[in-house]
Amino acid sequence: MTETDQGTFAAYPSRHVRLGVLEITRALPIRQRRMVGPWCFLDRFGPLSFGEERPMVVAPHPHIGLQTVTWLLSGEVRHDDSLGSEAVVRAGGVNVMTAGRGISHAERTPVTNTGELSGVQLWAALPDAHRAITPTFESLTEVPAVEASGGVVQVFSGSLMGATSPTTHYSEILGVDAALHAGGQLDLALRPDFEHALLLLERECSFEQSPLQSGKLYVLGAGRSSASLHSKGGGRVLLLGGPPFGEQILMWWNFVARTPDEIREAKADWDSHSRFGQVPAYEGPRLEAPQLGKLAAANPMS
Ligand code: MN
Repeated sequence: MTETDQGTFAAYPSRHVRLGVLEITRALPIRQRRMVGPWCFLDRFGPLSFGEERPMVVAPHPHIGLQTVTWLLSGEVRHDDSLGSEAVVRAGGVNVMTAGRGISHAERTPVTNTGELSGVQLWAALPDAHRAITPTFESLTEVPAVEASGGVVQVFSGSLMGATSPTTHYSEILGVDAALHAGGQLDLALRPDFEHALLLLERECSFEQSPLQSGKLYVLGAGRSSASLHSKGGGRVLLLGGPPFGEQILMWWNFVARTPDEIREAKADWDSHSRFGQVPAYEGPRLEAPQLGKLAAANPMS
């Protein structure tokens, strides 16, 4: 981050991707923006309603070097992993899986469901000192919330307005869902050493004088000490943050690494059924890794 980024405010359109039958908008990474703090991946799915079919069925697949954070606005997602963890996350709760040196998991709409799905999945890159740790999984049915006059702020990662999420992270981080009351204003104190991003989740909301458009990630450069949100109709916004990640990462498929060799090794281990274990709760074939092709050099630092 250069000095000219201080206090900037830039909008980046999401891309549309498909995950099986599920349509997703991917806000991170995009070509122009690889990370916001340690956050290196942000998928928004839903809101959608469904009948007999299950919109999310992601067969077992591996991860390294990251944490997945699943936060829902409605519906439910069932998580099963190679540690034997099993948890259904619902609105207000959060699932955090720390891949460390390697884990595999499946994510599915459970058979018993509300017929609704709306949420986000985020990945946070693990810093070098912690990226080879033993994998772990945490599931909370409720995260700390702050009731302000302008709305309700739920903190699923990090700390804001005196609320601290008990989820474990390995670098400074912020992940917040701000639900504004109709006509409400929320003045959020930001850490100036963090960069931040805003994503409109529901209805409408303005950041200072700018109405936030859905499907765009608004990135606030470091150097800001506050953000003022207001909504006429009662909107909902995701706020992410963290200090600029001071390490170059290399992302390929579900892996966050540093070098092409680490990626090749992780793919070879997945292909040969080693390192990542099995997901015993999932019946059916696992996901196969794509062909490696040519691995680009590590991303430019963002
Ligand atoms: Mn995954």
